Amino acid sequence: MNKKRLKHFQDLLLKEKAKFTKELDNFEHKIDTPSGGFAYPYHMADRGTETAKKEEESIIVTGVGDRLLFIDEALEKIHNKTYGECEKCGKLIEKERLEVKPYAKLCVKCKEIEEKLTRRR
Ligand SMILES: [Zn+2]
Repeated sequence: MNKKRLKHFQDLLLKEKAKFTKELDNFEHKIDTPSGGFAYPYHMADRGTETAKKEEESIIVTGVGDRLLFIDEALEKIHNKTYGECEKCGKLIEKERLEVKPYAKLCVKCKEIEEKLTRRR
């Protein structure tokens, strides 16, 4: 991958990182705020719903945290100039795929194989 392209994806990754970091901050803030306080955005009479909502948020937070980790790894790869290589077959990941998901670790083919394997379990 040439320098110009690496820079392009680095920018993309940093943008994604900023977005997810902000998302994570928002969620953590919501979870930390004790329910019942006026700062809590979900003012619901039904406490069961509130708990369910919190659980849902924790799942989202985990997902966002994972993505942040992937982004950091991708940034590291840009630094090492191995960015864009599939972790499984070592081929270059499709550019179109990286545009949509700059922190992708696998090429489309390997991802499809992996998804099939996961589904079978
Ligand atoms: Zn591959």
